[in-house]
Amino acid sequence: MAVAKKPRYVDVTNPSLSVECPRCGLITQRFIDQCRNCGYKLWPSSEMASAAFKAWRDADPSRAAASRFDLDLPPPPIDDTVDFAERAHTLGIHLFPNSNYPFIICVGMFFLGLAAIPFSAPARITMAVIGGLIFLYGVVGWVLVEDVRMYPSDSPPTQGEVHH
Ligand SMILES: [Zn+2]
Repeated sequence: MAVAKKPRYVDVTNPSLSVECPRCGLITQRFIDQCRNCGYKLWPSSEMASAAFKAWRDADPSRAAASRFDLDLPPPPIDDTVDFAERAHTLGIHLFPNSNYPFIICVGMFFLGLAAIPFSAPARITMAVIGGLIFLYGVVGWVLVEDVRMYPSDSPPTQGEVHH
């Protein structure tokens, strides 16, 4: 069986994945056993076409990503990574920095919420003090420390609620 599946001949120097069908003349996949337009038998069997495709693909490392169901080689990958922080800076859009401080702010709000429950007065005051300190620490760290560090110079007076 292994002998029967081997390609009898495949021109590995031809880089094309498509071929002109001998019967209908339209472009079809070179390594599919039948023409996709008229069904003309290009290869004796699908296994043989696949084996020929593998021989063709392995002949050149640049063909590694090719599929025998395509008419063309896949285009080279495009580097489309975008530095959004850089773009926002050029466009003058204010982005808040990536930060863990919002989690701290939430922890502070949790204790402030506990302080709203009618426990005994000393417990509520303790909760309020703890929550208030954590909350303020988070707000100061996020808005006044990290944000200013990210935008050191561009602090026009219109943004006075954040910068001073
Ligand atoms: Zn055809």
